[in-house]
Amino acid sequence: MTTGPLIHDLIRKKRDGQTLAAGELRAFIAGVSDGSIPDYQVAAMLMAIFLRGLDDAELPVWADAMLHSGEVLDLSAIDRPTVDKHSTGGVGDKISLPLAPAVAACGAAVPMISGRGLGHTGGTLDKLEAIPGFSVDLDTERFIAQVDSVGSAIIGQTDLLAPADRRLYALRDVTATIESVPLIASSIMSKKLAEGIDGLVLDCKVGRGAFMTTREQARELGNAIRVIGEAAGKKVTVVLTAMDAPIGRYVGNALEVVETIDVLRGKSGPGLLDTRQLTVELGAEMLCLAGLVADRDRGVERIERAIDSGDALSRLSRLIEAQGGDARVVDDPGRLPRASYERVITAPSTGRVEAISALDIGRAALVMGAGRARKEDRVNPAVGIELAVSVGDRVEAGQVVARLHHDERGIDRAHAMAAGAFVIDQSAPAQPAAPAHGQSGAQSRILEMLQ
Ligand code: URA
Repeated sequence: MTTGPLIHDLIRKKRDGQTLAAGELRAFIAGVSDGSIPDYQVAAMLMAIFLRGLDDAELPVWADAMLHSGEVLDLSAIDRPTVDKHSTGGVGDKISLPLAPAVAACGAAVPMISGRGLGHTGGTLDKLEAIPGFSVDLDTERFIAQVDSVGSAIIGQTDLLAPADRRLYALRDVTATIESVPLIASSIMSKKLAEGIDGLVLDCKVGRGAFMTTREQARELGNAIRVIGEAAGKKVTVVLTAMDAPIGRYVGNALEVVETIDVLRGKSGPGLLDTRQLTVELGAEMLCLAGLVADRDRGVERIERAIDSGDALSRLSRLIEAQGGDARVVDDPGRLPRASYERVITAPSTGRVEAISALDIGRAALVMGAGRARKEDRVNPAVGIELAVSVGDRVEAGQVVARLHHDERGIDRAHAMAAGAFVIDQSAPAQPAAPAHGQSGAQSRILEMLQ
């Protein structure tokens, strides 16, 4: 279907709030993929979908057509259940790094196709590339072979996977149609289903540091993802997790690798319990989907054992080595890139840390070079922010609450932004009832499960 009037009719139908038939949706995506529909008509359809949505019959067909615009991996040679996790993006969200090896150490196969950071949120590929030599560009054959031998591989999206998404996403980016639940859900799922997985845990971040700022929006996205997954015969668990404060101790690429190693070594310290808990909770859900445990509690036990025994850490080491990285970083994190300077932020008053704005910390890290404002920007792997306290902690005036690891770029602006991220409640009692996200006891970030 490449003729003008017909495409025009489809756009009009969607514009007027009618339901498009499966054949019409598939023909439209075919025209997106082969380039026969011009940008202006694709853009018009995207705006019509943005305004009118896709209903539960249209959505899985649209997503399936996007998925089959490219290659779908065949993991049938792998004799273990294949599961993955997708996060909608946060600040300090390094969870894929400890999670993939931990779940692999428990007997599942984790084929992960991840993304890069954009704006104030980080990306798994940038974090892994902070490891000297690490390559996120494996061809399909090598990717599958590594998933089979190591239990996990983490790569970037290849040109062959869901090419329709690349064109649609680029047009959404310039036509103010990014923030559409059906378009986001189909974009995510077209790439995740292309991994050929049996099950997916979606970590849908909610809060001021996330794409979805309210639980209602997050539920809507979670439900759309489930509709697509279930129509494709996949098991999907949606977990809503809090994203108001940054996750864990560090924000910044090499620093988040350091934190991953610390967590997999069972170390304690500010924020580390937070990262461990999310790893354990999401890992337990993945093991349930994989059918490797009878219930969540058994899943929690299995993942904790994989971490405490060192199995998850040695799996990480194998994964790094298999992807050309310097696996010695696992024993000697000093081999990772380090920033040249450090600047501290101190508490302006005595009290309890009421909030640490993930958005402000993410933006501060971005201006120092840890992230990219535009897709083409290069990141500085060494820079980032270390949080010395967590929400709920008691602090004294003048106490160090954060350290900026920097290479001078943007440091004054970053300092002001990061300092503004801390909200201290001066009226809080000297002995808080229970610390949250702290060294001594992190509160679970899990808000809700959609099953
Ligand atoms: N991530 C994606 O892959 N696609 C979107 O549309 C939004 C987030």
